[in-house]
Amino acid sequence: GLILGIESSCDETAAAVVRAGSEALSNVVASQISLHANYGGVVPELASREHLRNIVPVVREAIARASVAAGHPITFADLDAVAVTAGPGLAGALLVGITYAKALTFGLDKPLISVNHLEGHIHAVLMETRQRSEIPMELPLLALVVSGGHTHLYLATHEQGSETWTYHNVGRTVDDAAGEAYDKVAKLLGLGYPGGPWIDALAPHGNPRAVPFNFGEIKHRAPRPGVTNKKAPASNAGPHFDFSFSGIKTAVLRYVETHNMRDSIEVRRTTLAANPTLTPKSEAIVNLCDQQTLDLIASFQYAVVGNLQRQAFSAAESLGARSIVVSGGVAANSELRRRLQAEADRRNLPIAFPSLALSTDNAAMIAAAAWPKLVARDFATEDLGAAPQLRLGQQ
Ligand code: ATP
Ligand code: MG
Ligand code: FE
Repeated sequence: GLILGIESSCDETAAAVVRAGSEALSNVVASQISLHANYGGVVPELASREHLRNIVPVVREAIARASVAAGHPITFADLDAVAVTAGPGLAGALLVGITYAKALTFGLDKPLISVNHLEGHIHAVLMETRQRSEIPMELPLLALVVSGGHTHLYLATHEQGSETWTYHNVGRTVDDAAGEAYDKVAKLLGLGYPGGPWIDALAPHGNPRAVPFNFGEIKHRAPRPGVTNKKAPASNAGPHFDFSFSGIKTAVLRYVETHNMRDSIEVRRTTLAANPTLTPKSEAIVNLCDQQTLDLIASFQYAVVGNLQRQAFSAAESLGARSIVVSGGVAANSELRRRLQAEADRRNLPIAFPSLALSTDNAAMIAAAAWPKLVARDFATEDLGAAPQLRLGQQ
């Protein structure tokens, strides 16, 4: 069961070879972070062009590294299938991966498997627990997928005797994603891009209780504009555990404006721009911030993590989840890991996080998510297209 996974939904071009959904023989990621950093966010046109430039060398590299890991040459002919992210993501970016995967499978006469990027994030964690030969996570499983573009809670269940999982979307952000809030707040405070690692590194130096950011959870799903609720599907009747992160971003902005922080932010911005060798890991970065800024950063992170924690555990409790999986770029956050792990331990709930390499976008998770589909011979047809708004499971 050798699957080549391909991922190009956002700003990383990635390819990986995974055996039986558990052993990553290679996992190659070409990140475009430095390209988009100047703009403080991903620029779709630039992303597509970079994917086009990167896709062939990245796939070649994935095959070459897989050969090294396997100890014998692996060629395209040895693959059992090619899996590709069909959505959600940027249309032009997705199309690069899909077109390449279609051409490859057509040429090789191999099956093509379509994967939902969000299911991929969940499988990043499952793949690693399988690799460590841990007892499989028990269903119903609650998955918190939290990244720059997504903040979702899913309950995964399965029919008795069936290996195929069913996903129920039991929570989502009604505005910004959590990672987006990190990126916007970091930018506002004159820190680097992406913002998560900067805030993560600086927060331990501040007082998390200095600025009380209270923002309430959204208990009932607000009707979306243009969507009538009359024929809402039955699953809509259940409880929802939604998030909102645009309020805290505005609250940070207001704090900055009322506390005269503009000048020190400008100094930090220019210092960082002039010293590109400074990274979130540099010890010197603490000196770029006064105590007030450090306290603000610590308080922001404390509030965001608290919100994710409360919603995840309320959902787990009221839906009877027997295990929790956290994934997506924000799953790399050390405070999130520490606090969720502590509460899961208190509640005696198994919880799993991906390794740092598999937290952010990669293709090993796409190949891993494709494995049950290969077993079930659930293949895509040659009319597979990009699905920028693709959803996972029932809403
Ligand atoms: P998508 O949302 O489609 O999955 P993405 O590129 O936005 O794509 P990822 O690559 O999974 O998402 O994650 C990037 C996000 O994770 C960024 O918003 C970044 O700030 C955030 N992030 C990365 N490391 C950390 C961290 N240590 N703490 C908090 N946030 C982090
Ligand atoms: Mg990314
Ligand atoms: Fe992602």
